Amino acid sequence: MSTRFEPGTPADAGFIPLCVPEICGNEWKYVKECLDTNWVSSVGPFVDRFEQMTADYVGCRRAVATVNGTAAIQVALRVAGVHSNDEVITSDVTFIAPVNAIRYLGAWPILIDAEPDYWQIDPQKVSEFLERQCEQKNGQLRNRKTGRRIAAILPVDILGHSVDMDTILELARQYDLPVIEDATESLGATYKGQKVGGLSDIACFSYNGNKIITTGGGGMIVTNNDVWAEKAKYLTTQAKDDPLEYVHNEIGYNFRLTNVLAAIGVAQTEKLDEYVAVKRRIAQYYTEQLSKIPGIQPMHEPPSSESTFWLYTVLIDPNTYGMDSRALFRKLADLGIQSRPLWQPMHQSPAHADLQRTACPVAEQLHCDALSLPCSVGITEEQIGKVVGAIRSHAR
Ligand SMILES: *Cc1c(COP(=O)(O)O)cnc(C)c1O
Repeated sequence: MSTRFEPGTPADAGFIPLCVPEICGNEWKYVKECLDTNWVSSVGPFVDRFEQMTADYVGCRRAVATVNGTAAIQVALRVAGVHSNDEVITSDVTFIAPVNAIRYLGAWPILIDAEPDYWQIDPQKVSEFLERQCEQKNGQLRNRKTGRRIAAILPVDILGHSVDMDTILELARQYDLPVIEDATESLGATYKGQKVGGLSDIACFSYNGNKIITTGGGGMIVTNNDVWAEKAKYLTTQAKDDPLEYVHNEIGYNFRLTNVLAAIGVAQTEKLDEYVAVKRRIAQYYTEQLSKIPGIQPMHEPPSSESTFWLYTVLIDPNTYGMDSRALFRKLADLGIQSRPLWQPMHQSPAHADLQRTACPVAEQLHCDALSLPCSVGITEEQIGKVVGAIRSHAR
C-alpha cells in the first residue's frame, strides 16, 4: 500500500493528475439528505448552512453562495459600486476569470505586474500607478490618461498564497477605494493569523473541481457589509422585489447555487483544515526533495502568511537545469505526470489586448519559467517520488 499524505481513496496507479478533488467525508450522506427531502434546487437548508459555515470559517459576518467563482466576482464588483466605464486595478498574473468579470460590467481592468518573490500583485506598482497616473478631480479619483474613475482594487491571491494585504489595504484607505479580493485560490490560507478573504471589503471563493475543496462548481462571496451581502443575495436571485407580483426593480442574475451542491460544499468545508494541512505537508516534502536539484527553484511562502500551496509550483531556470519548463512539461507528460505552466499574463491575452498596464517583466518571466506539479490532497509519497525522480533525471 502506498503512503498517502492522508485522506481518501488511492489514486489511479499509472497517471498522476495535477490536482483532483478529494471526496471522502459526508458528501454522500448530505446529498442523500437533499434527495430524500426533495430539497434539490436553489433554496434549502444546505445553502444556508454552507453560507454560514463559510462566513464563520473566514471570520466574516456574511456569505452568499453563487453558481461559480466568476459569477461571485461579477456580483461583488457590482455591489462594491463598480459601474460601466470605471476602472479597476487588478493582477496581471491570474487565471482570466477576474479580468473577464470586470469586463462583464463594462469596466476596464488596469493590469499590475507581480512582485518577484511570491508572485502576487506588486503593491509598490499599485502605489506608483495611483500616485503618478491618477488625480483627484471633483472629489473622484481619475486616471489622468483616460479620464475614467478608478473604482476599486481587485487583488488576486494566486496559487494558495496571500497577497500583501497590509500594503493593499493601506493604499485602499489612502485613496478611498474598496478592496474586492479574488481569494478563490487561497481559501484556507492565512495572513497574519487571519483567514484570507476576511480582511477585504468583499472577497470571493470558487469551488471549481480543481480547487482545494469543490462542489463540482460553485462560488461564494464573503463580506462584513450587511448592505452589500443583502444586495449580493438580491442580485444573484434575479433581483426580485415582490415575490407575489414578480416586480423586479433591477436587472439581476440567476447565479444561485443549488442545495445539492451546497450539501457537497458543507461536507468539503468540514474537511478544509485537514486538506490545508495535507497540502502544506506535500509542499514541504516537494521543497525538501527539489531544492537539491540545480535550476529548480521551489515556491516560497510569503512572510507572515500560511499558504495552502493550492498548486505547488516551481521555477525552472533553463540555463542551469538544462531544459525549459515546456520541455520538462512534455517529458513529464510522457511519463503520465500532469503538470501545468502558469497562465499567459493578462496583458498578452488576445481576449484582453490593449488594456492599460504597468511594465510586466515578472509576469512574463513567470509565464516562461513556472511549472505547477501534481499536488492533489490524495497524492502519495511514491507518486511525488516519481515526479521528483523524473525532474532529477532530466537535470543537466
Ligand atoms: C478558479 C478561479 C476563479 C473562479 O473560477 P470558477 O470556475 O468560475 O469557479 C476565479 N479566479 C481565479 C484566480 C481562479 O483561479
